[in-house]
Order: sequence, then C-alpha cells, then structure tokens
Amino acid sequence: MIWKSLGHSDLSVGGKPVLIRSLLLCTELGDFHRYRVCSEAGKPAWARLAKDGSGKIGALVTGPYSEMLKIPSRKEIQPHLFVPLDSLSKRVQKKLLIPLNYELYEEENTLVAREIADEPYYLASRTSSVFHYPGCKRAHEVISGNRIYFKTRNEALENGYRPHKICNP
Ligand SMILES: [Zn+2]
Repeated sequence: MIWKSLGHSDLSVGGKPVLIRSLLLCTELGDFHRYRVCSEAGKPAWARLAKDGSGKIGALVTGPYSEMLKIPSRKEIQPHLFVPLDSLSKRVQKKLLIPLNYELYEEENTLVAREIADEPYYLASRTSSVFHYPGCKRAHEVISGNRIYFKTRNEALENGYRPHKICNP
C-alpha cells in the first residue's frame, strides 16, 4: 500500500476515500453514540485509511477534498478526526481495507489494523487469470499452494493477469 504523508501531523493516508454520513464516537460520559458527520457545507464526509507514527491504522475523516468536518449535534467544526476502524460501519471498514495486507487487533477496546508487509503487492491464483488486492475476499480464498505474488500492478498485467472487477486493483 502506498502511503502519502499529511505533512502537518505524523499521519499518512492511503487508498481511496469512502463516503460516510455517521461515526460511532465516545461521548463525554464514556459511552458510545452514533453522530452524524458532514462537511461544513453539509456534504457527506470522507473516510480514508490513515496510519500514525507507530504504524497503527485507523481512519482519517475529513470533509470531501479536505474541507472542514462538522459534527452538527456537538456543534463541532474541525479539519479532521483520526478514529479507530470500529467507529465506521462494517461495510465502510471492508471497503477501506481492500487494498491493504493487514491484521486486525484490539487495543483499549477499539479495533485497529496493522500492515503485515509495507511493500505493496498483488495476489493471483495459478488456477485463474485475475489478480487481486491482498485484502480482497477472493484473494483470501486462494489456497496457499496456488498463490502467486506480484510486486507491482504492471508485473501482474505483463504475466497475463487482468484486474479483478470487484476489488479493482
Ligand atoms: Zn479481488
């Protein structure tokens, strides 16, 4: 996975943004509440994978195109929020994690991911002609004896593999 540094913090972001409308956040009383989130102008927010300096992967939530993020019921406006993965719905988590070779673990009751290999790679099966991102469900189904790895997308294409339509590597 290719990570891009944000410059002003120790965070770097990766993958494509996924639109979100709500986030599960801790309240002042310590319980969890689902809050509506949007841009200052009321558009859906963006969630992207983000990695902090210690390698912990969560999601960076911003307004679209880095607009300010608003939580209307808390009357809060801020540039971004770095949240654990379980602040997002299962559907959004899955979408975000597709390009990543990762393992999940719990830390202080929150769900975080860690990258297993820093280098990007793609995976294909000896018995088919498509290649995948390592986080694709189909990639997980390829039995280990049949796995072929490619470091780059071009390497996979040159070997006659085409991108899987669902994970779209
Ligand atoms: Zn796939």
